[in-house]
Amino acid sequence: MSKGAIVRLSAGIFLLGGVWLAFTQNPNQPAKLDSIKVKDDLYVIHNDFVPGNTTALITDEGVLLVDDKFEVDHSNIMAEVKKIASQPVKYVVNTHHHADHTGGNRAMQKMDVEVVSSEQARENMVDAKQPGLPTVTFKHEALIHLGGKTVELYQFGRAHTNGDVVVYFPADRTLAAGDMFTFGSDVPELIDYAGGGSGKEWTRTLDSALALDFDTVVPGHGPVTSKREMIKFRDSTLALRNRVHEMLVQNKTRDDVAMMLKTEFHWQQLHLNLGLDGALAEMR
Ligand SMILES: [Zn+2]
Repeated sequence: MSKGAIVRLSAGIFLLGGVWLAFTQNPNQPAKLDSIKVKDDLYVIHNDFVPGNTTALITDEGVLLVDDKFEVDHSNIMAEVKKIASQPVKYVVNTHHHADHTGGNRAMQKMDVEVVSSEQARENMVDAKQPGLPTVTFKHEALIHLGGKTVELYQFGRAHTNGDVVVYFPADRTLAAGDMFTFGSDVPELIDYAGGGSGKEWTRTLDSALALDFDTVVPGHGPVTSKREMIKFRDSTLALRNRVHEMLVQNKTRDDVAMMLKTEFHWQQLHLNLGLDGALAEMR
């Protein structure tokens, strides 16, 4: 295949697969944003489905954001923050390394914002030569104290990538889940094996997150929802693993498994490209 054909093919996948998935490609158009109040001090800067959600915690001493979309969305994010708070942004937490969640890091750092991620997510960003590397990293868990409020960060294990972090706001009983949990019409589980993801470990990682005491969830993509929906998503990660395993035991072909994932789990071409071979190897 010529290079031009490959470029056209990936552009086609980019559109067909749902643009929200396209974490490696920076769009040149900013997304349309709006802010949704979740709790008195907690907002979600939501967008049409391209980049990831941004969560904003407002405190007297500053604002903490979870994820900062693509670089092209930076000024619109800041415009939304200004509508809800007069305090400066102090922290951005990246839930994982994909550019639709970390693209604004460099612009944030120019404004003296501290960018925090798991050590593994930072390593993935180094490998992918992404700009705006986090300057504070952690393994397993960390707390951020700002303006009398505490935010809890947890890295429970592999799921969408090997660096996934959930951000827990205990006083608001709310969890920002990153792409470990996506929600809405036809936004299925995306296993980024090249980024260290694991469909096999995903369920257990979700179980650890679900053990936290919350009722409201901000998914990585899609509308704000409830813990009950996250439990349903968890069950579907287990069902997917069991179905693939069962088909492999029955000596079904790669194409059979691909077809099953498309029809039963709504996988799109990009999901297959990133996740099929890894799933076949891992769920045997
Ligand atoms: Zn992602």
